[in-house]
Amino acid sequence: MNTIAQRLEEIQTRITQAEIRFQRPPGSVKLLAVSKTRPLADIEVALAAGQLSFGENYLQDALPKMAALNEKQADNPINWHYIGPIQSNKTSAIAEHFHWVHTVDRLKIAQRLNDQRPDNLLPLNVCIQVNISADPNKSGLNAEETEALAQTIRNLPRLKLRGLMTIPKYETDFDLQRLPFAALQQLFETLNQKGFELDTLSMGMTQDMEAAIAEGATLVRVGTGIFGERHKSYHNP
Ligand SMILES: *Cc1c(COP(=O)(O)O)cnc(C)c1O
Repeated sequence: MNTIAQRLEEIQTRITQAEIRFQRPPGSVKLLAVSKTRPLADIEVALAAGQLSFGENYLQDALPKMAALNEKQADNPINWHYIGPIQSNKTSAIAEHFHWVHTVDRLKIAQRLNDQRPDNLLPLNVCIQVNISADPNKSGLNAEETEALAQTIRNLPRLKLRGLMTIPKYETDFDLQRLPFAALQQLFETLNQKGFELDTLSMGMTQDMEAAIAEGATLVRVGTGIFGERHKSYHNP
């Protein structure tokens, strides 16, 4: 019995059901499988089941897995998304090895990623991480600061601004889960009315993905729902 493949299917069913329930077009919500801390073998099971987009948070953990898997998947390339906090000294490895970054929240990081993106690769897809509930314990920039950073990123030729990302405060109540996602969608729409042409709302994890889909998520980032519980010592290495 293959539990990762089964759980992947269950998550896909949850996405489809939420699309129907909240009148989202079929296929409008994509799944990012969050494979941080998972061994190569687990990712291979998900790949064999057809999952091609993966999210990673820790470079030292991610880069060797990425190198091994990219070689095996040369004919059917994997989309790698960086979804962890970014320190300045990590930007060149991120710019060289990833297709997407979800956690850009300041000018300095955007500028470095732009400058370090190799010329032979397509522009790096970027989401701005917004601290939508203005929670002092969360990273991301405040909603009011987002437009200025979006404007700057739009002018950086080696980056492609795709959208917004958030990690809201943990809530179990469905209506409370929806509030920050609704606020992020509002900001997304405001920016698009100003001509930004964003197409990605990266929000929702295992525990709150239905609430995010209800509020317009186009990409949900799911780890434990696919791969099972993470080892505790890996939560904050
Ligand atoms: C770990 C992580 C996830 C996945 O969380 P689960 O609760 O395991 O689904 C999603 N997004 C980010 C940014 C993460 O760090």
